Amino acid sequence: MENNINIPVKTDLKGKVAVVTGGGGVLCSYFSRVLAECGASVAVCDLRFENAEKVAAEINASGGKAIAVRMNVLDKDSIEEAHKLINEKLGICDILVNGAGGNNPRGNTDKEQLFPEDINADSSDLKTFFNLDTDGIRFVFDLNFLGTLMPTQVFAKDLACREGATIINMSSMNSFRPLTKIPAYSGAKAAVSNLTMWLAEHFAPVGIRVNAIAPGFFVTDQNRAMLINEDGSYTPRSKKILSNTPMNRFGEVSDLCGSLVFLADSKASGFVNGIVLPVDGGFSAYSGV
Ligand code: NAD
Repeated sequence: MENNINIPVKTDLKGKVAVVTGGGGVLCSYFSRVLAECGASVAVCDLRFENAEKVAAEINASGGKAIAVRMNVLDKDSIEEAHKLINEKLGICDILVNGAGGNNPRGNTDKEQLFPEDINADSSDLKTFFNLDTDGIRFVFDLNFLGTLMPTQVFAKDLACREGATIINMSSMNSFRPLTKIPAYSGAKAAVSNLTMWLAEHFAPVGIRVNAIAPGFFVTDQNRAMLINEDGSYTPRSKKILSNTPMNRFGEVSDLCGSLVFLADSKASGFVNGIVLPVDGGFSAYSGV
């Protein structure tokens, strides 16, 4: 976790209430701290309550205002309960960041392509497209798609007709073009991008802007094993990513700061609606040749 937060552009979110799902995680704990640094009161929501508590405590200790909230983005009752608590303790939500999400190895193939000798492989030897675990795929779809849609259903009623109301979803590079091995996560994030555009259109009459950030490659707990070998060297997948990233490096969480505050602040992005903003060192712009 980075200790110092330097907001690159002047952003005043004083008086705003920000709800961040997945706020105990790597990227969204940083997002929570950035929003608090800009003056917002932040509800740090996570399934892993102890992680949310740590983030909220850190924000409060550094002079900001935050509460930790237990929330399962896949359980409507849990979201409703969190909503009630947030309304009581912080007030009405102005900014919703749908950050909870991620992949699961049960939705991944072991190899990038299917070879003739693998067609009939058993899942205990090799995970191929044919023997992928349906429950694993469903888990990834639910977490990313429903886990974005359901908190939006609950909090958008707060946001409707509220000055500067905005929703920021977390998409991914693989929503533009699928990445090898991770069909469930790629499909689920494509659905998140699509939902972002759908919601932007749907909510326009009630003044809620809806955008998404599509981070490129950031080494976090979820993807570390795919990117870094135990001895600290890069995996072949990492090397491929870096050779396809014109800036030739992985992202740092602070690289996301400007995009977050830009989208969160309606004075900066008031006419920006329905976009999926890549923060990827040029990965999505490069054809590889
Ligand atoms: P992370 O695993 O560190 O954070 C995700 C958080 O979501 C965790 O704290 C987890 O406890 C929480 N969570 C999981 N299931 C939940 C549930 N049902 N209800 C509530 N909370 C739940 O991951 P991260 O790398 O910080 O990713 C944050 C978001 O950004 C995710 O949506 C991820 O898909 C997306 N993203 C990450 C990267 C990357 O390179 N790390 C790239 C693109 C997109």
